[in-house]
Amino acid sequence: MAIVPPALLQSLQHLPGFDAQAFIDVHAQEEKITSIRVNPLKFTNDDLTSIGGGIANTSEAVPWSRWGHYLPERPSFTFDPLFHAGCYYVQEASSMFLEQAITQLAILDQPLKVLDLCAAPGGKSTHLQSLISKESLLVSNEVIRQRAGILRQNMTKWGGANVVVTANDPQHFARLEGFFDVLVVDAPCSGSGLFRRDPEAINEWSPDAVQLCCGRQRRILSDALPCLAAGGLLVYSTCSYSAEEDEAIADWLVEEWGLENLSLEVAQSWGIVTSQSPNTGSVGYRFFPDQVKGEGFYLACFRKGSGGASRYKTTKPEAASSAEKAAVAPWIAAGDFSILKEGFLYALPAPLLEAFSIIKANLYVQQAGVRLGEVMKGKLVPDHALALSEIITPHLTATDLDLSEAIKYLQRLDLSVQPEQRGWQLARFGGHNLGWMNALGNRINNYYPKEFRILKQA
Ligand code: SAM
Repeated sequence: MAIVPPALLQSLQHLPGFDAQAFIDVHAQEEKITSIRVNPLKFTNDDLTSIGGGIANTSEAVPWSRWGHYLPERPSFTFDPLFHAGCYYVQEASSMFLEQAITQLAILDQPLKVLDLCAAPGGKSTHLQSLISKESLLVSNEVIRQRAGILRQNMTKWGGANVVVTANDPQHFARLEGFFDVLVVDAPCSGSGLFRRDPEAINEWSPDAVQLCCGRQRRILSDALPCLAAGGLLVYSTCSYSAEEDEAIADWLVEEWGLENLSLEVAQSWGIVTSQSPNTGSVGYRFFPDQVKGEGFYLACFRKGSGGASRYKTTKPEAASSAEKAAVAPWIAAGDFSILKEGFLYALPAPLLEAFSIIKANLYVQQAGVRLGEVMKGKLVPDHALALSEIITPHLTATDLDLSEAIKYLQRLDLSVQPEQRGWQLARFGGHNLGWMNALGNRINNYYPKEFRILKQA
């Protein structure tokens, strides 16, 4: 049973909307809520019934996200090929409230440069990718290298071409003064909002941890705020209930940084508590698990009034040769892409090339656009990322696998399926690409990446 630390309860007494007994009770119940967000590049809400062998037949919509759904129980996502195909992301429902901030406050019909500063494992980044236009660029950053690997994997599965993954310390963004139109800081925090889902977090919580986190949150914001353009939107969020990490930061952003706090329209039926910070009356939105179907969360939005823009250092990425471009052409859908090279070939929407040249010169780029593969003897050896991306042409040879063959494919085992055609082809499940295989006549080579393969036993 999750027992909430008395010191936390004490510190929350004065928060608007806090009901101590209901909060204690909801933690004692240990209800586990499962929610997913579907990927509009690959899936529609009508496809939901195919998830987890039909578990989502009776799903319920998350009210603040057009793609969010609560599942009646938690299926084994590991053994659902659609999960590996990037058809949906398993995400805590309260976090999906980011959608309201972006749709209500960002000008989405203009090309935007968006930075998700603390992005791993990728919940907010995959969501941002769904919200922004194809002409907009998402820089998805994670300072901890190992976590940046997980972020890359999730962004690859999601399949959007307009994403660059970087692994930089917030300090490094000082080189990009006034560059971004939207800055999302989903800050590392003391984690009280996740107690129900992860009772381990209770042992790590202490008033000292809250103090440590609020210092770190201010450092992260101080480092990153200069890279937001004048008029740019800051979305700040935590999964902590503590006012030190939430309202006090909102006050500090307004008082020290001169930001303008912004309100959102929120339906009363959603159960979200609107809070006001003590000094500046800044509005923020808090999710208490006894009042919403989701975990603890806080989000507040701000507009930057003024700020400089700089001239930026740029590094033009190497362009692929004509022969290389000709080799990749049959594999990608029609569109305005720059085909670039860095040992391997990769594609980026052409309108994003200028912004990418700046990112490349100033940050540690882990992955940009869609990795296409390498040309050998005039032919493309396709990369896994291409198979999962939105830019792959629908006209390639493909073999649909049944569930047991699809799982074998994802485990990187030998397959017994007999493809109708030889050569490179897509392995699919329910019409969704899982990756590549090469049928050689007497055997099939399984090219599912080793590092992604399912290791768990059924
Ligand atoms: N936005 C992510 C999502 O929706 O999936 C979750 C982000 S998590 C709340 C905070 C992230 O900040 C973690 O990935 C963590 O590694 C990163 N982080 C930790 N210390 C940091 C620091 N000093 N500066 C920037 N990011 C940091």
